[in-house]
Amino acid sequence: MGPYNRPDIATAAWKGARVDPGDGAPDDAGLDQGWFEVRRPEPGVITIVEPLHQEQVKSSLVVGDERAVLIDTGMGVGDFRRLVAGLTDRPVTVVNSHAHWDHIGGNRLFAGDSDILIHEAEAAELERVVGNDELRGWFTPEHLLGPLPTGFDHEELAFLATPATRTLRGGEMLALGGRMLEVLHVPGHSPGGIVLLDRANGVLFSTDVAYPGALYCKSEDADLAAYRRTMTMLADLAPSLRTVYPSHAETPMDPALLPRMRDVLEAIAAGRTPDGVEAGVARFGFDGFSVLVAVHQLEAVGA
Ligand SMILES: [Zn+2]
Repeated sequence: MGPYNRPDIATAAWKGARVDPGDGAPDDAGLDQGWFEVRRPEPGVITIVEPLHQEQVKSSLVVGDERAVLIDTGMGVGDFRRLVAGLTDRPVTVVNSHAHWDHIGGNRLFAGDSDILIHEAEAAELERVVGNDELRGWFTPEHLLGPLPTGFDHEELAFLATPATRTLRGGEMLALGGRMLEVLHVPGHSPGGIVLLDRANGVLFSTDVAYPGALYCKSEDADLAAYRRTMTMLADLAPSLRTVYPSHAETPMDPALLPRMRDVLEAIAAGRTPDGVEAGVARFGFDGFSVLVAVHQLEAVGA
């Protein structure tokens, strides 16, 4: 056994499983920097995975005829901009799904050349330095499934302030040329959370709001009542969706999970008994996903 939680994954990754060019896709060899995995699930959609960290963070690059939108910039490991430059020659607009650290790590690499967009409720978060004291604890052996890339020192990692160039409110349409992404404001996991909807193609980029893993409604900026309203809205979209690309856990995700997540959040708000409570966080387990809710959130909705 090596020093990592999942040596099977680490070994597979080290043998080159990180890059899966798929049928007829360009040769991505050399792009992975010892950290990233590039997947091309359908034309115009590139999923960038960070498979050697237990958070299994995904960022999405959506490429149109004229422009590309990069949904999030990862955890701050490796050179995200160099990776993206190897994947598209279109001008790139960065859209942060929210300001949690594991989705803004590469923002500063795009400053000056790319627009950086985030919902106005979390814009102030991009204007502060995320210090090493907040980050280094996430890169200890129990969080890692394989080695960190050569030259990366988690004891030095910090995110410089990188203000947004424009803020979003929800309802904006991002035109990429031959493809349109609609911004939906979906508070709950965080106050300024957004998802991006490609209505014409039936594709939802569901970010941290909906994925087939442990959904978080437990951080200080979470809001259970808002999360419930958000999931009602996303569940209503489900019949029009062909697929969902989330930012954690398995991807893509079956849209049929969205109405189930809505039902679960309704049941939790109505007082469902948790399967466990630990350190102020209630855990509700279901088939295919779970929900972690801060106990004070349950009290706030009267559950
Ligand atoms: Zn996240």
